[in-house]
Amino acid sequence: MSTIFDKIISREIPADIVYEDEQVLAFKDISPKAPVHYLIIPKQPIATLNDANPEHQALLGHMMLTAAKLAKQAGVAEDGYRVQMNCNPDGGQVVYHIHLHMMGGKALSA
Ligand code: AMP
Repeated sequence: MSTIFDKIISREIPADIVYEDEQVLAFKDISPKAPVHYLIIPKQPIATLNDANPEHQALLGHMMLTAAKLAKQAGVAEDGYRVQMNCNPDGGQVVYHIHLHMMGGKALSA
């Protein structure tokens, strides 16, 4: 099923894109929970973490390393940041195209 993130990948709707390569796209969250709040998404649609399989292992690792790289670029790596992936309703997932939240720029509550 197509999501709003597919439309961002295909440029049907705009986003504040901060990084792109062959595998992933990263853009600013439209409703930021921290001064720096990026979403890192794979270009291939995987609805939830439950739908990931061993074929996606390298892609998931690449998403994590991209989050760390973007945290450094945004100047929040040294003070610290949070990387989070929500899964399904109890996990707070709203968009069913997996994404990492990378949040920093202030002390985040537990
Ligand atoms: P989640 O609850 O983990 O599914 O997170 C979805 C995130 O996507 C939320 O933090 C939203 O603010 C963000 N979001 C939804 N639509 C857009 C959009 N068009 N551009 C940027 N971020 C978005």
